[in-house]
Amino acid sequence: MKKERVVIIGSGPAGLTAALYTARAQLAPVVIAGAQLGGQVAITHEIENYPGFPDGLSGPELVERMKEHAENFGAVVEFDLVESVDFSNGSPFHIKTYGEEYLADAVIVTIGADPRKLGVPGEEEFTGTGVSYCGTCDGFFFRGKDIVVVGGGDSALEEGIFLTRFATSVNVIHRRDELRAGIQLQTRAFNNEKISFTWDSVVEEIIGDADGVNAVRLKNVVTGEETVQPTEGVFIFIGHDPNNAVFGDQIALNENGYIITDQRYRTNVEGVFAAGEIQDEIWRQVATSVGQGTSAAMAAIQWLEANEERLQTLDALPAAGD
Ligand code: NAP
Repeated sequence: MKKERVVIIGSGPAGLTAALYTARAQLAPVVIAGAQLGGQVAITHEIENYPGFPDGLSGPELVERMKEHAENFGAVVEFDLVESVDFSNGSPFHIKTYGEEYLADAVIVTIGADPRKLGVPGEEEFTGTGVSYCGTCDGFFFRGKDIVVVGGGDSALEEGIFLTRFATSVNVIHRRDELRAGIQLQTRAFNNEKISFTWDSVVEEIIGDADGVNAVRLKNVVTGEETVQPTEGVFIFIGHDPNNAVFGDQIALNENGYIITDQRYRTNVEGVFAAGEIQDEIWRQVATSVGQGTSAAMAAIQWLEANEERLQTLDALPAAGD
């Protein structure tokens, strides 16, 4: 078992920034990268709104730079997944990955959230060949095509408007007759000639062949009527699910499953901090995650300093079973 000062769970912008700050504080943090280094950013084609990069840069490039930056100061990035955690006895915390076991004085959770799935036939099969959860990543491939967007929130409209840069038409399919999105986005969408709406409807099936998607089967939830609508792309924006499964009931979550933090990014478990999309269901930007990762790291550094004596005493004690 490895004893560490700080273990960071997740390698998106929040995690890699927390790694940079804790590394600069000489804490040699270990980042458990998860299934994809960089998380959702790694699959983002271009980032145009991260300050300091006026020409934009690709998600993978930003992730690589953030990783290199943190490593230059002593962070260690492990390409591994967390299997279980035990926060029940307080610090030091027990973290089991597929390849290693760690005892960490402090933990920073930056494990992110994943796009919610519809769970209909064809969705998984055509992901990557017509089904997408990221307009920024995949919009370019739908140049001159007729596509649909599923959802009625800010993301659906914002991404739908963005997709009109590429697509010939964007039909927004929403399960109610009223949008959840803010009024400004609604106005922009209603005024966009390329955008149309199909109300009170849900996607029951995504239909396609070896070349990709060619239609969606819709059901009107008011009349029960089923229709098949031709389309070449299905962009799904129905919210996100925070990656909280590994924590079970060991950490306090809000009603939507996001980790609850205070202004110092402290969770209800003393010594465990959280940053980025696992605790932020509203802003979900690279820049906000970077800021949150910074704050969580600084809070963790302060907490470690304040508890130094106690943690050193614990370190000096023989471990259970020794
Ligand atoms: P959201 O606000 O939760 O909206 C999800 C939408 O998907 C809702 O319209 C919902 O329908 C629909 N939906 C959920 N499950 C569905 C299902 N199984 N089948 C069909 N439709 C389903 O999620 P979001 O749009 O991703 O936004 C998340 C947060 O980020 C929000 O707080 C939002 O304000 C914020 N955000 C802000 C901006 C911005 O300000 N520019 C941009 C993006 C996101 P119902 O309406 O019927 O529930």
